[in-house]
Amino acid sequence: MPVVPACETQIKDWAELFLRAPAEQGFLIQGGGTKPAMLPWSAGNETVLTEEPHGPVKASPLPLQVIQTASLSGIIEYCPAEFTITAYAGTPVSEVLAVLREHGQYLPFESPYHVPTGETIDSPIRAEVASRTTMGGLVASGIHGPGRLRHGGLRDFVLEVRYIDGTGTVRRGGRRVVKNAAGFDIPKLMVGSCGRLGVIVDVTFKVFPQPRDYLTLHFMSEQLESTVEIISTLLTHPWDLDAIEVQPEGSVLVRLSGHTDALVKHGQRIQSRLSKYYSSFLTGLQQHQAWSAYADGLWGQNDRSLVKVPVPLRRIFELDEVLEELEIQRAYGSGGNVAWLQWNKVMESQLARLKRLHKAMLQLQLLGHVIQGPSLHPFCGAAPGRPFFERLKTVFDPHGRLGVF
Ligand SMILES: Cc1cc2nc3c(=O)[nH]c(=O)nc-3n(C[C@H](O)[C@H](O)[C@H](O)COP(=O)(O)OP(=O)(O)OC[C@H]3O[C@@H](n4cnc5c(N)ncnc54)[C@H](O)[C@@H]3O)c2cc1C
Repeated sequence: MPVVPACETQIKDWAELFLRAPAEQGFLIQGGGTKPAMLPWSAGNETVLTEEPHGPVKASPLPLQVIQTASLSGIIEYCPAEFTITAYAGTPVSEVLAVLREHGQYLPFESPYHVPTGETIDSPIRAEVASRTTMGGLVASGIHGPGRLRHGGLRDFVLEVRYIDGTGTVRRGGRRVVKNAAGFDIPKLMVGSCGRLGVIVDVTFKVFPQPRDYLTLHFMSEQLESTVEIISTLLTHPWDLDAIEVQPEGSVLVRLSGHTDALVKHGQRIQSRLSKYYSSFLTGLQQHQAWSAYADGLWGQNDRSLVKVPVPLRRIFELDEVLEELEIQRAYGSGGNVAWLQWNKVMESQLARLKRLHKAMLQLQLLGHVIQGPSLHPFCGAAPGRPFFERLKTVFDPHGRLGVF
């Protein structure tokens, strides 16, 4: 599976375009285009909005040209024995997952189109959108799924990126090997960069063997106090848990993976330690339905705003209180370390509620990543890393053509 000459020509053309473009030309990078909320600015004509501390947002002061990476498609190198795969940035995530599946491998932080407990995505809406997501978009948006609890987030799996920076120079960061400690860890900077540091043109991932089987424990809980107690108990015992996700109504899904026989014993030990909470085992179709419904709730609601907020478990109570006041629905993922917030237009517009959330998050000093819905900037709330990212911008994109931090 070699490099594709047409893709290499396209990369050179874009580099040339960046190099020759006047300093006042802006660029907007799009993969599958499934997440317009994450674009660092819009191609529309709205007046520039300033929402501190995230700077001028969405409407660009520069004329914009859209770079669509979907034309860069194909798997460049796949070494099942080395557990690495390299693909052009516009390659659909579904195509990469299909190739990995043939060799019993997967992306363990989880990605759209990956259904650990079954063969297919049940919701047609989710399946259609997920089928358009690209590998570059996956890295640039930096989102991870329930598998992060055991295996780490997306940033732990990106080994190498090739990218065009804002000056039109094609660069590489990282190496295509699992063990590498040389140089700056550029691949990690690209995770969650939302197109503001450069155009990712190809990416190498470390992959894992797909577990043989799964078992899910479903814990009933109606109060946040009991939910947090369940999670704390789970996290303070040496149990290798694949995922702990809290559904919007408060019940907890705990996923185990491995050999079928061992899973039942493992599940029983957990159940007996948490016997004061009612729980049930989910296997087969029931298990698949539970995880599908959870993912559909997050990813199958195109008319809703969706914001991801990293939060330590100990701060969930104060965040939850604020969200209750703002009438924002929430699920807590990755063992209570990520809050997924959702809302629809009810009495006020979705954007008006985002602005209220932004203010509340500033007070809490928490950062939110806006994934879906009308937005002013890909992020809201506090921006503790902003001085660092502004310095990065002076190196990666000195003319500020790729959006602001
Ligand atoms: C477990 C899991 C399940 C998910 N399920 C779904 C799902 O069902 N449906 C769904 O829609 N999403 C889902 N997501 C989110 C999804 O992974 C990302 O939003 C998606 O990969 C975005 O891809 P895209 O090509 O559409 O990006 P776009 O929407 O095109 O872009 C998103 C951001 O990335 C930037 N960008 C895109 N490509 C590049 C590039 N080559 N170089 C630099 N910047 C770039 C853009 O500028 C923008 O800021 C899921 C994520 C996870 C982890």
